[in-house]
Amino acid sequence: MENAKQILSEYYGYSSFRPGQENIINRVLNDANTLAVMPTGGGKSLCYQIPGLVKSGIAIIISPLISLMKDQVDGLTALGIDATYINSSLSHDEQRSRVQAMQNGDYQFVYVAPERFDAPNFMNAVQKTPLALIAFDEAHCISQWGHDFRPSYRSIVSTIHSLRNLPVIMALTATATQEVVRDIQHLIHVEEDHIVNTGFARENLAFQIVKGRDKREFLKEYLDKRPHESGIIYTATRKNADQLQHFLSKKGYQVGKYHAGMSELNRKQAQTDFVQDETPLIVATNAFGMGIDKSNVRFVMHYSLPMNIESYYQEAGRAGRDGEPSDCILLFSGQDIHLQKYLIEQSHLEDNKKVNEYEKLQSMVNYCHTHRCLQQYILDYFNNPFPHEACGKCTNCTYTGEQENMTQEAQKILSCVKRMGEKFGAGLTAKVLRGSKDQKVRSFKFDRLSTYGVLSQYNEKEIVNLIHFLTAENLLTPGNGRYPTLSLTQQAVDVLKGNDEVWMIASKPTATVEVDYDEALFEELRQLRKSIADHDGLPPYVVFSDATLKDLARYIPQTKEQMLNIKGIGEIKFDHYGELFLEALTPWQQHAQPVPPSEPAAPVKKQPVDRNDKGPSHLISFRMWQTDQLPIEAVATERGITEITVENHIFRAVKDGATIDWSEWFTDAQEAEVLQAQNQLEETKLKPIKEALPNTYTYRVLRAVLTKHGII
Ligand code: ADP
Repeated sequence: MENAKQILSEYYGYSSFRPGQENIINRVLNDANTLAVMPTGGGKSLCYQIPGLVKSGIAIIISPLISLMKDQVDGLTALGIDATYINSSLSHDEQRSRVQAMQNGDYQFVYVAPERFDAPNFMNAVQKTPLALIAFDEAHCISQWGHDFRPSYRSIVSTIHSLRNLPVIMALTATATQEVVRDIQHLIHVEEDHIVNTGFARENLAFQIVKGRDKREFLKEYLDKRPHESGIIYTATRKNADQLQHFLSKKGYQVGKYHAGMSELNRKQAQTDFVQDETPLIVATNAFGMGIDKSNVRFVMHYSLPMNIESYYQEAGRAGRDGEPSDCILLFSGQDIHLQKYLIEQSHLEDNKKVNEYEKLQSMVNYCHTHRCLQQYILDYFNNPFPHEACGKCTNCTYTGEQENMTQEAQKILSCVKRMGEKFGAGLTAKVLRGSKDQKVRSFKFDRLSTYGVLSQYNEKEIVNLIHFLTAENLLTPGNGRYPTLSLTQQAVDVLKGNDEVWMIASKPTATVEVDYDEALFEELRQLRKSIADHDGLPPYVVFSDATLKDLARYIPQTKEQMLNIKGIGEIKFDHYGELFLEALTPWQQHAQPVPPSEPAAPVKKQPVDRNDKGPSHLISFRMWQTDQLPIEAVATERGITEITVENHIFRAVKDGATIDWSEWFTDAQEAEVLQAQNQLEETKLKPIKEALPNTYTYRVLRAVLTKHGII
């Protein structure tokens, strides 16, 4: 019998277990019913897959979502393991033949939805099949206290207990409050000692709250800094999802959408395009996600307030399952609270459950106002079993600047709202405060108010942002009506009287992650992964995770042995894809670095790739071009990178302070025309500017002009 550690390295290519994994696996191998509580991305799949491989018989995995099953089966098959799923997406004939094959012992893993246990032919087959284990994935769905309760999950527990050949049972979940844990423990008979709770902390996630910013503008800025990265943007309603996706597509971003109002076919397509990295971005409602196993989601942005911390942490937790640094950003505005309250009111919940929902919503709102570490706040909410230090990455942990005292501005705004009769929205209020000569301002005689023009040092947009901030701080409320009309809250009185101060906590830029691998090579490897994935009909991350690609770009292994030392590459994966990647890495061999023999338990900062001791990659290209006077094409060929990368390197050197002779790049007339087009369009994206100019303007010219003027 192979041991767990051996399987971990041979099949999965990992040299050490993540916290809790070994503990859970050993319990199951000793036939103890086990409840595993681990964060998303903690590596739960491996906890049932390794015992499934070690023990004889078939492992049955009960999973609430069909799409999740397919991804898991694809993943196992790519590792050379016999696995299948049986669910309603298959024809009856196909279902029957898979049940038969299961009975014949053709599979090691069978994924099913809970409803399958209601089918007599399946139960018959299960009774005749030697079983290794039964695992409940997403086990919080069993509990009526869970936020995703599925009655079918609970009702099959007694059916399973009636099996003559009942094997060891395990339950795995990422979100479980104490009551949910107790409920699952009781239902599947887990002894106290066999609950393994590793805590919920996600070390690689940076939680951010952004207040008082124009959401669309923030989003655009954020996306422009991450051109190829994959991210999910959650909206509260279908309509918001439609509008935001439309807006982003019009701005030239590749973005899909997903919500329950779309046809099943369209939803499926959107999900596949996202998972396959065809569209890097997706705007979605909370209907999207349970089935998403994509490991390289680099950010999850909540465009409006989620309904509670449980769903927030689960949705945000879809970022960075591969362990790489990722962002979870919540764009907060006070109005969103009213929408969530409305949704609770409209729900068909009993009154006491509604009260419960209101309390949960309040905890969510408090999260947006807290000055504590955001990760700590969440962990405390879930009664994390271990104390956890401040994360050092979230908005509050990284805030170093002075907070601005905005009490005077707040008083002026509040008093203006009062004087306008608390009947108008942020737009008109801002015009009055700015001292606008707008017709509407004059027709209401607001130009005669004492607050007219008292914030003329700000522009209208800035004032609107301040108003949003005061709304977020609960000093103003936008009301419940269709059109928001600002009125003062009880708290505002204290500010107006000077008993309370208002300090503005500006949104912080996202901490930038230091890149210690060659980005151009990573991009090449990503393309190769995509073409292999398309050819094999697999999601790209099933071929190799982002973490594996980054390690390949970091160490540039040249032999099979070196490659097997990269985390995520075991024998089977190497047999499938190793040669193709080795070939792609060959031109880069002079930059190879020794691969550390075993994976360190905690991420270790590695030294940046040092190219022949000549400093950062972009400066090497820059010197070859500037000092050695090689043309861009020659630098590209010599370094085995694309010409665009070389251009990027040169522009980056300019941004670092280098001076170059721009006359080689564009003429004065071209410069003037590009700037004019950019100015008119108020755009920083290249495509619309290019489209506004004659065809003779190349992207190189555009990028050069915009770089010279610090626009991009
Ligand atoms: P979960 O189901 O808990 O959200 P997964 O099982 O999907 O997490 O695992 C998340 C990622 O972590 C996957 O890419 C998986 O291959 C990787 N992983 C799991 N265990 C380990 C390990 N011991 N070492 C390195 N990576 C691991």
